[in-house]
Amino acid sequence: MQYFISHYNKESELKFPDDLIIYDTTLRDGEQTPGVCFSFDEKIEIARKLDQFKIHQIEAGFPIVSEKEKETVKAIASEGLNADIIALTRTKPGDIDVALECDVDGIITFVGTSDIHLDHKMHITRQDAINLCETAVDYAKDHGLYVAFSAEDATRTDIDFLKRIYSKAEECGADRVHIADTTGAITPEGIRYLVSELVKDLNVMLALHCHNDFGLAVINSITGVLAGARGISTTVNGLGERAGNASLEELVMALKILYGKDYGFKTKYIKELSDIVSKASGLEVPYNKPVVGNNVFRHESGIHVDAVIEEPLCYEPYVPELVGQKRQLVLGKHSGCRAVRAKLNECELDVTDDELIEIVRQVKKSREEGKYINDQVFKEIVKNTKK
Ligand code: MN
Repeated sequence: MQYFISHYNKESELKFPDDLIIYDTTLRDGEQTPGVCFSFDEKIEIARKLDQFKIHQIEAGFPIVSEKEKETVKAIASEGLNADIIALTRTKPGDIDVALECDVDGIITFVGTSDIHLDHKMHITRQDAINLCETAVDYAKDHGLYVAFSAEDATRTDIDFLKRIYSKAEECGADRVHIADTTGAITPEGIRYLVSELVKDLNVMLALHCHNDFGLAVINSITGVLAGARGISTTVNGLGERAGNASLEELVMALKILYGKDYGFKTKYIKELSDIVSKASGLEVPYNKPVVGNNVFRHESGIHVDAVIEEPLCYEPYVPELVGQKRQLVLGKHSGCRAVRAKLNECELDVTDDELIEIVRQVKKSREEGKYINDQVFKEIVKNTKK
C-alpha cells in the first residue's frame, strides 16, 4: 500500500476534467519573487526537469523585460521539450512581436480589469481594456500563436465586465481565458460562484492563476476546476510574488492522492525539482512545507517511530518514494528501544539488551542537554556505552 487516506473523501461524486492543463509559471511569476533572478543555465535546468515531470505547459518568461530574458525564453523554446512553451506579454503588439522572435508555442497576454487597476495603474476605461484585449488577441492569432487572455485582478472585477471582456477574447479566437486572483483575495466559495457564472456564458476554456496570500491558492484552484475551469497555474515550492502561487507539488499530490485523479505526472521527480528551484532561487524550503519539506517524512516521537517501523502509513498519508523523498527516523528525547534498535541496525552496530537500555538513556540525556543526535553523535554514544 502506497497511501492511505480518509474514507470520508467522496472523490467519485466530484467531476474533474480529463483534459486538465497545468501551466507552470515558476520561470515567470516564480522569478518575480523579490530577490529571485535565475541564471540562463538555471532556467534551462528547471525547464528540463519540469518537462521530465511531464508538465503540460511552461510559462518560460516575460521576453520584453530584457534582452537576456528574451534569449533565455528563445533557448527554452528551442530545447525540443514535450511541454508547450509560452511567454507572457502585455496587450501590446510590440510585446507579442518579441515573443514571436522567441519561437514560443503561445502567449499569455494580460490586462488589469478591476476598477482599481483600470483607475490607478492603467488609467484607462473599461472600453479601452476591451479594445486592448481585442487588438492583442487578434494580432497573436493572426501570427499563429496559442493565445491565453488573462484578466489581471479578475477576482476583484465586476462580473458583467469580466463576461464582456472574456467574450471579446473568445470572439477573437483566444484558446483560453485566465482568471487571475492576483492578490489571493478570493475564497473557495467565491471561486466556485465566479467560475460557475462564467462557464454559463463562455465556450472558451477557463483557467486559474491563484495567489496564496491566505494559504488558499491550492484549494481555490481545485474548487475552480470542480466548478468548470480546465487549467491551473502553479509554481514549484509555491514560489511567486508576496505569499506566492499555488504550489505545483501540493496541487498534484492532492489531486493524485486525496482526490484520486492521476494526471500522469512523474511525481518521483518532485523532490529533485524542489531542490533545484530552492537552490536557484536562494530560498530554502521550510521544514514543514507540505510534500517537499525536510520534516514531512521524518519521525522522532518514540510512539510514532515504533509504529512507523512496523507500518509507515500509521503516521504518513503516503510513502515518501512517491515524491522522491526518503523516510528518516530521528532520535531524540521521545525515542524508545525500538527506534534506537532500528538506528543501530541502520548503522550496522550490534549491542546487548543491557547496552541498548543504557544507549536509550544516553540518547535522551544528550538531546535534553541540547545535542542534536545525528549519526556521528549516536555512534559516539554507542562507543562510550560499550566500553
Ligand atoms: Mn501572479
